[in-house]
Amino acid sequence: MLKVKYPRITNEWTSLKKKNPSLAQVVWDLQVFVKDSFKKDVIITHLFRTQKQQELFYGKGTKRKSPHQYWGAVDIRDSIYTSDEIAYLKEFLKAYDNYNNYRLMKASMSRTVLRHNIGHGMHFHIQFYNKKGQIPPRQIFFTEGTTIVA
Ligand SMILES: [Zn+2]
Repeated sequence: MLKVKYPRITNEWTSLKKKNPSLAQVVWDLQVFVKDSFKKDVIITHLFRTQKQQELFYGKGTKRKSPHQYWGAVDIRDSIYTSDEIAYLKEFLKAYDNYNNYRLMKASMSRTVLRHNIGHGMHFHIQFYNKKGQIPPRQIFFTEGTTIVA
């Protein structure tokens, strides 16, 4: 199941489906994968970021831009997964790199998933942008209903 940390993220998720449908599809596919493979949820902890919030992270007047400010990234909680699950989750998302055009924004090249801590705890930062506006094909490595036995 796809869950959110704060109620306002529910509205942001609705907007994301219009602003960046390919990213919404990636996160949705991840949710299906996690549910079928680990019987766990995907919890969105951060989605859209205003300039004011960006300055809270990086200091007032920062020139640094985040893909979150362009509907280009979604953060999800990682503390609910085992280290094996984290590895599978990263592999699943790395498969989207070939379709990712985020290099246009120089956001960590075109990597779809980063696991990092910018001061509020370790989390997965998922960024995806497909310049043609096409939703990437569903990953076929794990079919729905498949359970990974670690
Ligand atoms: Zn992020």
